[in-house]
Amino acid sequence: MLLAVEVCGLCRTDMKAYTVGQRDLRLPRVLGHEITATVLDASQQQTGFCIGDRVQVAPGISCGRCRFCKQGFDHLCDRVKIMGFHRDGGFQEYLHIPAAAVKTGVLNYIPTGLSFEEACMTEPLACAINMQDALHIGDGDVVLIWGGGPLGVLNARLARSRGAKDIIIVEPQPDRMRLLEGLENQCLLAADLKDLLEILAAVTKRGQADVVIPCCPNPEAFRESLKVCAKRGRIGFFSGLTPCPDIANTEWNLIHYLELTVVGAYGCSAKHNQSAMQLINGGDVTVKDLITRRIALGELQQGLDLIALGKEMKIVLYMKKGR
Ligand SMILES: [Zn+2]
Ligand SMILES: [Zn+2]
Repeated sequence: MLLAVEVCGLCRTDMKAYTVGQRDLRLPRVLGHEITATVLDASQQQTGFCIGDRVQVAPGISCGRCRFCKQGFDHLCDRVKIMGFHRDGGFQEYLHIPAAAVKTGVLNYIPTGLSFEEACMTEPLACAINMQDALHIGDGDVVLIWGGGPLGVLNARLARSRGAKDIIIVEPQPDRMRLLEGLENQCLLAADLKDLLEILAAVTKRGQADVVIPCCPNPEAFRESLKVCAKRGRIGFFSGLTPCPDIANTEWNLIHYLELTVVGAYGCSAKHNQSAMQLINGGDVTVKDLITRRIALGELQQGLDLIALGKEMKIVLYMKKGR
């Protein structure tokens, strides 16, 4: 099946893959895993899709047969080939998808009325869904999120749609904080630990959070997460950590004494992408205001540099001219 790429989101992982590499990256590679496209050529009999269909691409091509695939965790398939990591991704004009992959659900129709740029937020939101399914966020939870980048905001909005009561985002970077203040998040914003502790004391009796999601690679955020988590609280390991100074025994032991649950999430399944598309299309999670810059293919290098500076929220690449 041949797709013409329309809009592809840039994310921090692309910048990381480009600058220092990434565990799943195989070179040489075309990056880009937040992909939307138009079907250029397909055998309808084989794929069910027609020329001209607007689609979002869930980036993982899995075997469809193993234990993880059968349980709906196809992103954990031993044989998964992720576009933009093991196979070429969306920072190119055309994308080839094997018919077998279409059968495992990598393509989602983009509903009429939803733009390509909104639909390219499906994959990042799907990653947040994978995380929050494991955290069982529900009514009345106080949720703390470290890092106010696009994934921090998407996690906040998803938590809101799942009934969280108070949501606090910690963002130390002033440029990012200004962007956050301009969004309609209905979140409490903290610039540092002192701010955070004050907010927690104001919104909860014990000054603790029920759920903590570090959406940044800073080991300090994980260490502090252990300290501000309520009894039976949940911590989501959403981001890998940069090299970690030793976390003290007394800190690790909080998991034991407070009966904390620490769960990990990496990437997203085809089903998570379907759910994300529904949430975006239904208006449960809004995404359009997160896109702060639109670039062309020739500006990809600058786009990746901008991610490193952290002065934009979401940057998307438009493949066609006249955006
Ligand atoms: Zn990404
Ligand atoms: Zn599999």
